[in-house]
Amino acid sequence: MRVLVVGGAGYIGSHMVRALLRPGHEAVVLDNLSKGHREAVPADSLVLGDFGDGELLDRVMQQHGIEAVMHFGALSLVGESMTRPDKYFQNNVAKGLALLDGMVRNKVRYLVFSSTAAVYGEPEQAPITEDARLRPTNPYGESKLAFEKILKWYDAAFGLKSISLRYFNAAGADPAGDIGEDHSPETHLIPLVIQAALGRRGNIRVFGTDYPTPDGTCIRDYIHINDLAEAHLLALKALAGGAESTAYNLGNGSGYSVLEVIRTVEQVSGRKVEAVLGGRRAGDPAVLVAGSERIKQELGWQPKFPELEEIVGTAWKWHFGHPDGFK
Ligand code: UDP
Repeated sequence: MRVLVVGGAGYIGSHMVRALLRPGHEAVVLDNLSKGHREAVPADSLVLGDFGDGELLDRVMQQHGIEAVMHFGALSLVGESMTRPDKYFQNNVAKGLALLDGMVRNKVRYLVFSSTAAVYGEPEQAPITEDARLRPTNPYGESKLAFEKILKWYDAAFGLKSISLRYFNAAGADPAGDIGEDHSPETHLIPLVIQAALGRRGNIRVFGTDYPTPDGTCIRDYIHINDLAEAHLLALKALAGGAESTAYNLGNGSGYSVLEVIRTVEQVSGRKVEAVLGGRRAGDPAVLVAGSERIKQELGWQPKFPELEEIVGTAWKWHFGHPDGFK
């Protein structure tokens, strides 16, 4: 299929573009490079611009005969969203509407949407299944949930079919080692611990050691970026085959604590990392683990890199080879 990958030059989007090109889809990347990297995608696939620009959407969709959209063009920092909800609702909801309207105008019927575990808020269960209560605790999660709800009504009125994938903690890099995570500033645990192992920062601060978990630190479900991309391919195939609009969780179903992640980076890299034990970060739930049975059963998704060692190993390969990221 001919797929428009919105935000395709970012961390997740660029891995998606690669996954699309493998089985012979066509990928057109629409990215304003506010967060993404030109070097992360094939040069001839990139259209530089904003997904809120209706005229540009019309031009790109018509010129390339776009049949489906994958949407990764979101702001995604929980902390920032607490102080700048305006930015989050503007980018993730208002601009997202412009994208949907562009799809409707140009009769593009399929959307795979990048959603998040943050739509659940403080979990009442572990693992979290799709029927858990949706109660985001920050504007980031709220903006994603608002968009999921909008999708339901665009399906009812305009027949726009969508699958929302609620990611847990995306991590790792393509095993080829030439693309990977490069955020500025970096806030995610695995790249930060790797930077400490590489000597590019002095230590890693552990956010909270008094959680009700076995070692007192937060537990998260880390999912390899290529497994995540593979799930999008399956979602696309399902939509093209007539599937109804829905949402799936995407995680491995096993949780690792912050201290376990640090130990795994030490093992993989063979280097010591200094951990500084600190206070909690506002808004962090103790345990976030996905129940991903539904996507396994309904779409046949199977993670190829379920082990933390492999996830960290691929991330290490990317960061070791590119200590300054794409620069
Ligand atoms: N974390 C940490 N130190 C850091 C960054 C993150 O202890 O410098 C913890 C954070 O509190 C959370 C886990 O690592 O429990 C994963 O955080 P990340 O920001 O990578 O992803 P999130 O779970 O917020 O989406």
